[in-house]
Amino acid sequence: MGHVKLHIPGPIEVSPKTFEAFCRPMIGHRGQGFKDLYARLQPQLQTLLGTKQLVYLSTSSAWGVMEAAIRNLTQRKVLNCMCGAFSDKWLDVAQRCGKTAEALQVPWGSPILAEAVDRKLATGGFDTLTLIHNETSCGLMNPLAEIAALKAKYPDVHFIVDTVSSLSAVPMSMDALGVDVLLAGVQKAFALPPGLSVFACSPAALARSATVRDRGYYFDFVEFQKNAEQHMTPSTPSVSHVYALASKVDEIFAEGLEARYRRHATPNDMLRQWATGHGFTLFPEAGYESRTLVCVNNGAKPGGRTIDVAKFQKLVKDRGILIDGGYGKIKGTTFRISNMGDETPATIQSLIDILNDALQQL
Ligand SMILES: *Cc1c(COP(=O)(O)O)cnc(C)c1O
Repeated sequence: MGHVKLHIPGPIEVSPKTFEAFCRPMIGHRGQGFKDLYARLQPQLQTLLGTKQLVYLSTSSAWGVMEAAIRNLTQRKVLNCMCGAFSDKWLDVAQRCGKTAEALQVPWGSPILAEAVDRKLATGGFDTLTLIHNETSCGLMNPLAEIAALKAKYPDVHFIVDTVSSLSAVPMSMDALGVDVLLAGVQKAFALPPGLSVFACSPAALARSATVRDRGYYFDFVEFQKNAEQHMTPSTPSVSHVYALASKVDEIFAEGLEARYRRHATPNDMLRQWATGHGFTLFPEAGYESRTLVCVNNGAKPGGRTIDVAKFQKLVKDRGILIDGGYGKIKGTTFRISNMGDETPATIQSLIDILNDALQQL
């Protein structure tokens, strides 16, 4: 059977060029070759995250760093801002780490608003906060800048921000926002095979981490910093991923960041227009739609058209494209289409032609 192109919101389609970089011959991770590779990558990653801090490479999926952030930083109590499957799960993860955690829960598809975060933090006792910038399960983008502005009012609360499905697709400025830990997995907008995450810590987060007991070894932030200063990682990294990341980041800077952000915005607009043009509504609250995917409402909320998603998905797949049939409790009552990575208006137009053809066959 031929390859089915991925338009699910992660992992996403990986280009032959990236695979070629991924398959380069192995080198030792303590040798000069690896150090040179990581050192060359470092300033580019810092620009993408918007930080002067060293960017670390973690051989794990994003959840490794999401759990690590809790284990390195939470001593008293964490506030988990919850608006979808991934952000909801972070509360569970914090509790499984034995931490005291409190939920700020809004209905899936509604944004986390700064006023609500402020009210919660004002009750006191928190030393950490988790926020997902782009809640991939609902196709919703939270107002990160407005929430991050609260950092000035609560300087002792460490803000941990997941940009897994937004980093490199929209502008990010970790330092200017005052974010303490910013993290992303590479199988989303970076369009790499899954298995590597990038993240950075503020000086305050590193200082806090150094005082926290039982933070383990593999994900110890202090170890990441010590090693990154020598252009290395604490343990053997997936060197193949680092090759692939270097290749991708070169592509990103050759294209130019502004052009890249535009290249994500235009296909995203095209997909939104496709959905509304066919009588659907979007699942997230208006004004908070993601820029890297569309989550189409298919009965999860009142209004708009509904279709047999499983059948639609199969018709699209028969035409060589995999779209997502909805996540968790909104499976089937929503469906999702990604525009992350290497997509262009032309590739999205071919996708839309296929979607239209499949809709007609329903
Ligand atoms: C995909 C995703 C994750 C989980 O990433 P893994 O690589 O499966 O650990 C976390 N947060 C967001 C927003 C995601 O989209």
